[in-house]
Amino acid sequence: MPNLNDRICIIGGGPAGISAAMYLQNKGYENYVVYEKLNKVGGKSWSPKIAVNGEERTYETGAIMGAITYHAVHEVEEFGGVGHADGPNMRRMYRDKDGKEIFPFDPKKNFSISKMLNLLKMKKQMKKLVEIMETKYKGYDCYCHRGVAQGRYHGLSKGLDDALQMIEGENPNLKDLALPFDQFCKMNGVEEVMKIWIGPYTSFGYGYFDEIPAAYVMKYLDTTTAIEFVNMRLWTWKEGTQSIYEAANKKLTHPALLNTEVVKVVRPKEGEEGKIQVTVRRDGEETTEEFDQLIITTPLDYFAKYADARDEEKELFEKIIHEEYVNFIGTFGEDQGPTISGYIFDNMTVERLGHAMVYYHRWEDLKANCPSSVYALRNHMGSEDVPYDKTIGNMLDDMKLCGFPVKDRLFEQETYYCPHVSPKDYADGWYDKLEAIQGKQNTWYAGEIMSFGDMEDTCAASKDLVERFF
Ligand SMILES: Cc1cc2nc3c(=O)[nH]c(=O)nc-3n(C[C@H](O)[C@H](O)[C@H](O)COP(=O)(O)OP(=O)(O)OC[C@H]3O[C@@H](n4cnc5c(N)ncnc54)[C@H](O)[C@@H]3O)c2cc1C
Repeated sequence: MPNLNDRICIIGGGPAGISAAMYLQNKGYENYVVYEKLNKVGGKSWSPKIAVNGEERTYETGAIMGAITYHAVHEVEEFGGVGHADGPNMRRMYRDKDGKEIFPFDPKKNFSISKMLNLLKMKKQMKKLVEIMETKYKGYDCYCHRGVAQGRYHGLSKGLDDALQMIEGENPNLKDLALPFDQFCKMNGVEEVMKIWIGPYTSFGYGYFDEIPAAYVMKYLDTTTAIEFVNMRLWTWKEGTQSIYEAANKKLTHPALLNTEVVKVVRPKEGEEGKIQVTVRRDGEETTEEFDQLIITTPLDYFAKYADARDEEKELFEKIIHEEYVNFIGTFGEDQGPTISGYIFDNMTVERLGHAMVYYHRWEDLKANCPSSVYALRNHMGSEDVPYDKTIGNMLDDMKLCGFPVKDRLFEQETYYCPHVSPKDYADGWYDKLEAIQGKQNTWYAGEIMSFGDMEDTCAASKDLVERFF
C-alpha cells in the first residue's frame, strides 16, 4: 500500500488528474507530480475565449454543464474557490431533421389525443423507472462499476442524502445493468423514458441505446440528474468548466507540469523492488524520473502503447471502446445564428449517424450573434463509421436547414470520448478484472473508464481511488 512519503506520478491534468492530486493533498500526500501534455489543465473541459463585437467571453468546446448531483466537482470547486452561480442559463428548443421546430414535450402545441396519451404514458413510465431504480435496482447509483456484473454494489454514493459516502451491498438484480439500455427499458416496461434520456445521452455523444450497457446510462443519468436536466436546473460556469480545474490547479502545492507528455513507463517486475521509471517529453527533450506509485487518468488503451503493459493489462484495455464525437464552434453572419440551443431529435437515431444532433447557444444577450457549438457522433457498434469530412459536411447542411448557415468553424475537433466496454464484456465482469489488478506494480487506474465520461464521475472515481487505497 502507498505511504505518505511515496513519490506519486499522476498522468494527465484533466478533471481526473487534478482532482486526484487534490484528494491526495487533502489526505496529507505532499510528494506528487501531475504531468499534462498540453499547455493547459482541464482536459476535455476546455473553455477558450472568443471576442464578439470586441468583447471576449468563454465558450465551451467540451464539458458544459453539471447538476445538483455533481458532488465531487463541487469539492473541486470549493478547493479552487470557484462557484457556478453566475453561469449562463441553459435554454433549448427542439427541431426535426428538416430543421423545423417541434414540440415533443408540450401537450398544448400541435395538440392531438394520441400525443396527449403518449405524453401521459411517458410520465407514468418515468414514475415507474424512478420507483424501480430505488427498489429493484437499489445500489445502482453509486459511482464506478465494481461488482455490478455479479449483483453487488460498492462505491461512493451519488444520492443527495448520503453523497460521497461509501456504500456496499448485494442486489442480484443489478446484473440487468449489463444489458444494452434499450433491452433494459423493454424488460422493465419503461421504453418511453428513452425519449427523455436520449437528449442528454445520445446527443451528448455517449452512444446509442442498443450498444451501451444500462449501467453507464443510469450511473450518469441517475433519476435525480435526469429530472434536473428535464427541468433545466443545470450548473454552468461563467468562465467555463476549464476554470474549475485551473483554479484547483493553482491551489495545489505542486501544480501540473504543462507541455510535459509521458512517453514511456517502465515498472519493476511484479514482486521485485525498485522504482517506476517515467520518461517525459518536454520541448523535444526526454528526461526520466523515478516514482513509487503511478496513477493513470488518461485512456488505458493508449497507456498500453507507451508503457510496459503486462499481457493481462493489454487484454483488458484492448476491450475498451470509445465514441467518436465531433464538434466545432460555428460563427455566423451578423444576426444569422441561433438565439437558443437546439436538439435535433430525428438525428439521434443510428440511421442519421454523422448528422448534427444538438447545438449550444451560450450567451442569451448576444442573440443571433453568438458563436455556437455543434455536435455529431460518427460511430456506432455494428455500423460503419461515417467519414470525418462527410460528418462535417452534414453538420453544416443541418445547421443551414435550421436557418443558420455557418460562416467559420473554430476549435473543430474529434475527441476520444466516453470510453466504455460492450454489454458482453460488462456482463463478463470486465470491471472486476480491472479491480483485481488495481495496485499491481504500484499502478492505479482512474479517469473516465472507471465510472463514466463526465466531469463528475471522473472526479468521483479519483476520490474513490484515493479513499480506498492511499
Ligand atoms: C464535446 C464535449 C462535451 C462534454 N460535455 C460535458 C458536460 O456537459 N458535462 C460533463 O460533466 N462532462 C462533459 N464532457 C465530458 C468531460 O469533459 C470529460 O468526461 C472529462 O473531461 C474527463 O476527464 P479526464 O480527466 O478523465 O480526461 P480528460 O479530460 O480527457 O483529460 C485527460 C488529460 O490527460 C492529458 N494527457 C493525455 N495523454 C497524456 C500523456 N501521455 N502525458 C501527459 N498528459 C496526457 C490530456 O491532454 C488531457 O488534458 C464533455 C466532453 C466533450 C468533449
